This record gives sequence, structure tokens and C-alpha cells, in this order.
Amino acid sequence: MLLVLLAFLKLFYVPGVGSRLLLHLGLKSSPLYYMKIELGPLRSLTSLRLQSVRITGDELECLLSNSLALEQLKLSGCKEIIFLKIPCVLQQLKSLRVLTCSRLQAIESEAPNLSRVYLCEGKIKFSPGEALHMKDFTLWRVNSICYARAELPSIMPNLERLVLTSCDEVVNTPMLPSKFLYLKHLTITMVSGGAFSPSYDYFSLVSFFDASPSLETLLLNVSSGRMEHESVFGGTSHLRQLPEQCRHDCLKRLEIIGFSSAKGLVELTCCIVKNAVSLEHLVLNTLPGRGWCSKVDNRITCRPFSKTLFEEALRTVAAITSYIQDEVPPGAKLTVVEPCERCHSSSR
Ligand SMILES: [Zn+2]
Repeated sequence: MLLVLLAFLKLFYVPGVGSRLLLHLGLKSSPLYYMKIELGPLRSLTSLRLQSVRITGDELECLLSNSLALEQLKLSGCKEIIFLKIPCVLQQLKSLRVLTCSRLQAIESEAPNLSRVYLCEGKIKFSPGEALHMKDFTLWRVNSICYARAELPSIMPNLERLVLTSCDEVVNTPMLPSKFLYLKHLTITMVSGGAFSPSYDYFSLVSFFDASPSLETLLLNVSSGRMEHESVFGGTSHLRQLPEQCRHDCLKRLEIIGFSSAKGLVELTCCIVKNAVSLEHLVLNTLPGRGWCSKVDNRITCRPFSKTLFEEALRTVAAITSYIQDEVPPGAKLTVVEPCERCHSSSR
């Protein structure tokens, strides 16, 4: 990878007068690969990928300042960077991807045309400046869902695609007056190998639906190892709704993976389905992930279920029949993904 990187940089080397940067490349675990090269202004460099490179934030800022044609920047495993400033001279920069830069605490971008950002790192504070061109934002961090709802409408007002992943979301999403006026595609993934805290209210996610009048697709993945929320079949049968009707004309597809009989999740789904007058396809997957019972070339492959997961999947199918099926608008197709016949027979 390092040699590829080195070759890549040489490819764009343009000798010239100007500030020169001594760039240290190397893997901590592989001192033999520690190298030094000198770079002049990189006038033709349009794409820069640094993987496991020993470079500080100041050095990278200097490199970026000399790369005026840069369109794409990807950083992964660059553990010397603590603060990164992306200078405003990068007028062409459209895409930024940052992952596993474990010491990186903050990114301050002044690049005026940045439109696509992928941040997969738990602690980064991202300041995109006037991000009027930001269309596509992916964020992977703890409580990213609540953060995104509260902060992004004001700093990224023109977002069209938003992908959020939260490992342990514990804060409910607030209802707020701010809007994602242009958001078309929203993916929310909440990951848990065990169970989500029963105090987390799935229904609070309706805040995104309420705030996004242009939404066309909504994918929600709430797969977990077990379900500890109150089931819709227990306690009160009253289902919460939004205080006011929230009619959506654009939503075509709603898919929920890891769908369970949790009351808040059923309430959320009913609320969306009732208001999405143009819905074409509703997919409720009662299995903890896509491809759980998959059929390829007439061969069925099933991942093993725990007894509790299997019983919850059956309870979920019953919840869909009792509470959701009749709410699906005419013309919309409902697909329920459930344990296959083989899983049923092997559970007996
Ligand atoms: Zn199966």
C-alpha cells in the first residue's frame, strides 16, 4: 500500500519553485518502510489517499495548500493527525473520507465546494464552515443520530443524502422546528450485539420524518442480539401518533431491518405509513440483518438463530399483522422478511 502511495505521489510530482514539504511516510509497525520524499507544488494532483502515513496535521495542511487541483482526499489510519485544517484555497475539493485516524479530534474545513463527506471516527468534531454545497454526509459515531438531528439542519441546510451509524445510541432524538428541506435519502443504523436500552424510544426517530418533507427513501437498521423493549402486545394498546398530521408526498420506500415487536418501533412505523401517501414499498425484515435466510442457486443458507431471536421474529410477524398491515396505503407493497421454512422446521 505504501509503495502504491509513493508511486502515486511521484506520478503527480511537478518540479517548481515554491515551498517544499518533507513528507514522512511509514507504518509504525514496519520501520523498514519508513521513507522520506520531497514534494514540490502538486499542481496536477486531483486525488490523494493517505493510509497509515506518519504525517501531522500541520504537514498535511501544508501539502493541501500546495495541491490546488485536489478534488478528493481520503485519510485512513493516519494516527499522527490530531487537528486538521482544510484550507479555503482548495476550491475544487468535493470529497473527504476519514476513517480510523484514532487521534484525530477536530477537522475544520474552509473548502467552499465540499459536497461529500464520510467520517468514520468516534471523536471527531467536524466544522464544515459554510457548507452550502454539502449534499452527502456520512457519520459514524456514538449518538450520531441525536447529534445529526440537532445540529445538521443549520450547518448543512442543503443535504440530500444522510447516513448515520451509532454504536450505542442512548439519547432520544428531539422534536425540533428545524428542517432538512432537501433530504431525499436517509439511512440510520443502530448497532448492538446485545440489546438496546429499553429506555431508548424508537418513536423519537419520527423527528427525522417530520423534518424531512422531500424524503424518498428511508432505511432503518435496528438489528440487535435480543429485544428488551416493551412489546406492543404488553401494557396499554394505545399507540402514539404525531400531534399534527405530517403528510408526505415523496416517500416511496421504507425498509426496517431488525424489525421487532417493540412498541415504539411499531408506533414509528404506523405513523410513517399512515402519512406516506405515495409509499410504494414497505419492507419489514424481522431478521437481524439482510441475507439471514438467503437462497442462492436453489440452496438455502441460514445463519443460526438463538431461541429468543426466533420467538421474537414470530411475535414481530404477529405485530405486523395486527397493527401495521391494514395501515399500508393502497398501491403500496408490503414485504415481510421472516424465518424461512427450514428455520421453522428446525426449531420444532
Ligand atoms: Zn432460514
